[in-house]
Amino acid sequence: MNERQARHEIVSVAHRLYDSGLVVATDGNISIRLASGRFLFTPAGRCKGDLVEDELLVCDRGGHLETDGRLTSEAPMHFEAYRIRPDVNAVIHAHPPYTVALSLAGVSLEADLLPEMVMTLGRVPTAPFAAPSSAEGAEAIKGLIDGHDAVILDRHGALTAGETLIEAHHRLERLEFCAKVTFIARLIGEPMRLTDEQIERLRTTVIG
Ligand SMILES: [Zn+2]
Repeated sequence: MNERQARHEIVSVAHRLYDSGLVVATDGNISIRLASGRFLFTPAGRCKGDLVEDELLVCDRGGHLETDGRLTSEAPMHFEAYRIRPDVNAVIHAHPPYTVALSLAGVSLEADLLPEMVMTLGRVPTAPFAAPSSAEGAEAIKGLIDGHDAVILDRHGALTAGETLIEAHHRLERLEFCAKVTFIARLIGEPMRLTDEQIERLRTTVIG
């Protein structure tokens, strides 16, 4: 993707993340792998609801900035996803509240509860606890992001990846929706898993 289009998409998705409560205050970060092989990142310490295109940062794969500004301390997680997944061109890290709440309670989203999980995201693993903004974050997602497009960060948030930023954003929204439904279901009773036969049928269904 060219840089101009990427700047526009990042700002648009950043505003939507903030407006839908998937990040608050200055939380979260978004990046895109540019056609040039460089990366475009949201800057550290800025509210995603107020972001404008000129504030975005361009850097190389080592995180060396080409422009003034401060790269997010969570950038190593993004670089790890790009390194392991050549098919990935966009990464979002956010703090979706229901997803985080379930991780606090030790409730896994690897259970096959909702058809859309089986048909789209698949089972979403939870990475071991790592202090937010630490180098441990990249280590925590290693071994999980290769086989999954969404990973929950224990007691912290989520990371989603996509061939495009829109795809990564939809995966984040879908993850949070499934966490919310699971949360509500558990208030009423014990959620029932799909049967093996139902799961098999879903896996062979083409989504229209
Ligand atoms: Zn975070």
